[in-house]
Amino acid sequence: MSKRKVVLNFPPHLIDQPITYRLIRDFDLIVNILRARITPNEWGRMVVDINGNGENLEKALAYLTEIGVVVEPLDKEVRWLEDRCIQCTACIAPCPTQALTVDRATMTVDFHRERCIACELCLPVCAYGAMEMTF
Ligand code: SF4
Ligand code: SF4
Repeated sequence: MSKRKVVLNFPPHLIDQPITYRLIRDFDLIVNILRARITPNEWGRMVVDINGNGENLEKALAYLTEIGVVVEPLDKEVRWLEDRCIQCTACIAPCPTQALTVDRATMTVDFHRERCIACELCLPVCAYGAMEMTF
């Protein structure tokens, strides 16, 4: 049994394809979708945990690459250290998935871990070390 946590980047023409279903049916894998961001006519990103026979898993990853999905390993995670955050909102605009949001009424920043794809764009803009990468 092998296990792999990966980010699948889908080109716009593939986002309505039943790719997850094919991984399950054709390669006998268990696919756990951890985070997903799919928008019509844009690249989609999905963070998945894939479990199954090692050979099947390799074949499935090769299949994904073959059809145009860009597969990246996900061996890292971003954490928001709330106690260090001064709510300056500098990280809101660079975040591509709305994992960091601000309530405009209260100007309170919040982190939605399930939306984070660990792209790291928020790390350099946070001057207070409130965004941290863990491995
Ligand atoms: S940039 Fe850093 S300090 Fe500013 S809101 Fe974002 S996490 Fe908080
Ligand atoms: S790493 Fe930062 S910028 Fe990237 S999705 Fe996560 S919170 Fe947003």
